[in-house]
Amino acid sequence: MANTKIDRVPVREQDPKVRATNFDEVCYGYNKEEAMLEASRCLNCRRPGCMLACPVSVKIPAFIEKVAAGDFEGAGRIIAMDSSLPAICGRVCPQESQCEGSCVLNLKGQPVAIGKLERFVADWSRENGISYNDKEASNGMKVAVVGSGPAGLACASDLAKWGYDVTIFESLHKPGGVLQYGIPEFRLPKDKVVGSEISKLKELGIKIETNVIVGRTITIEQLMGEEGFSAVFIGSGAGLPKFMNIPGESLNGVFSANEFLTRNNLMKAYSAESDTPIYAGHKAVVVGGGNVAMDAARTALRLGAEVTIVYRRTEQELPARAEEVHHAKEEGIAFRMLSNPVEILGDEKGWVRAIRCQEMELGVPDASGRRSPVAVEGSYFDIETDVVIMSLGTSPNPLIAGTTPGLEVDRRGCIVASADGATSKEYVYAGGDAVTGAATVILAMGAGRKAARAIDEKLKK
Ligand SMILES: Cc1cc2nc3c(=O)[nH]c(=O)nc-3n(C[C@H](O)[C@H](O)[C@H](O)COP(=O)(O)OP(=O)(O)OC[C@H]3O[C@@H](n4cnc5c(N)ncnc54)[C@H](O)[C@@H]3O)c2cc1C
Ligand code: SF4
Repeated sequence: MANTKIDRVPVREQDPKVRATNFDEVCYGYNKEEAMLEASRCLNCRRPGCMLACPVSVKIPAFIEKVAAGDFEGAGRIIAMDSSLPAICGRVCPQESQCEGSCVLNLKGQPVAIGKLERFVADWSRENGISYNDKEASNGMKVAVVGSGPAGLACASDLAKWGYDVTIFESLHKPGGVLQYGIPEFRLPKDKVVGSEISKLKELGIKIETNVIVGRTITIEQLMGEEGFSAVFIGSGAGLPKFMNIPGESLNGVFSANEFLTRNNLMKAYSAESDTPIYAGHKAVVVGGGNVAMDAARTALRLGAEVTIVYRRTEQELPARAEEVHHAKEEGIAFRMLSNPVEILGDEKGWVRAIRCQEMELGVPDASGRRSPVAVEGSYFDIETDVVIMSLGTSPNPLIAGTTPGLEVDRRGCIVASADGATSKEYVYAGGDAVTGAATVILAMGAGRKAARAIDEKLKK
């Protein structure tokens, strides 16, 4: 019987004033008692909306039932059927618009904390040294995966479980994609969580070759030719940052969010032991309103800057997760809404000194369904700042498309692929941000898994 009398169990977090000065994880997660109590709220619906809204169809009520009964290993086994990165998804998935957004308890109050329960089960499994990797015997076929982000890892994991000999080729020196270089330590610990989930995948026999740029070090044609791979999955993401093309963008102190975050996360610039330099200034302005903007702003704050986010619509249209906006506000980040930069102003030495913006108002909805920002004539104002971090979205790097004859891309540079990841080139599949443009971890994982299924069907014909 579900415990309908209690409210959602709150999760413990670091105090906002303290965490604004360190890079430790913000959320502590549930302990056993809290997890079991929260799990007891689930009604175990016969037609669970939560599960229908999960892009990889995790058997949510079934794993929550196990948590409620204190069978955490059983819960982990159920999650592992559909997700190879649960400690990561439990931390960064936009649950409010997916599983939790479709939980029936929304009708009367707050949904079951599905993400926090998934995280609890994954962390408990890791801390107790339990792995759920069951593997079939080798079938002797080799598959190459380009990129070690969630799309590549999910594809590799399924194929390795089915007996394929899988090698991932990654251009950076550490695997994980955005999980490693983009999302900050205080949201997603690198060694404890990302590194450990990847080590579990390596136990399946997956080989990861880092520092290999496909399209430069080796081409896809060579992988499928002399290297003897029967198929290739491209999960190379969308790592190319966009800029506004306004005057002053080449001044010292202007960064793309990608560069700023990579210096901090991958190269650990925030640590005294790192050689990588970083400059957040006394004041920093972050332009944009997505998860990436929140991450850049909260990172600059931890590096000692006073931070303002400039966004051209209102808070209602912010694309970032509600939890990230809430955390950013708690930590003291200022939001300047309905404002659009028109110029970055420099001093005589070529460093940023201010950003000039124009006020906006909302007009009619655009193609995205959101009301479009319209400039208010003559309403310019300056914000003094030492640093400007542009967080305006990213697109796929053109390298792979440019070096793979016959691989079709669309006008945004995204690889054209069918629902199961098949591209215009036989035996070459693609998925994740490289196909959709910047999206989410779980959608990338879902695409990787669909492509794995399609590759298996194709190679076993
Ligand atoms: C700062 C930031 C915060 C985010 N926050 C969230 C969040 O909270 N929740 C969420 O769901 N999503 C979030 N996202 C989005 C999410 O991380 C991405 O949608 C997801 O990582 C895409 O996965 P992917 O595997 O397609 O690509 P990626 O994670 O980008 O991985 C691609 C990998 O391919 C490698 N690669 C690229 N080209 C080559 C090549 N030629 N040869 C070899 N390797 C190559 C790259 O180095 C990279 O490691 C965030 C993104 C960013 C940037
Ligand atoms: S919709 Fe909510 S209450 Fe129903 S099974 Fe899913 S988590 Fe449980």
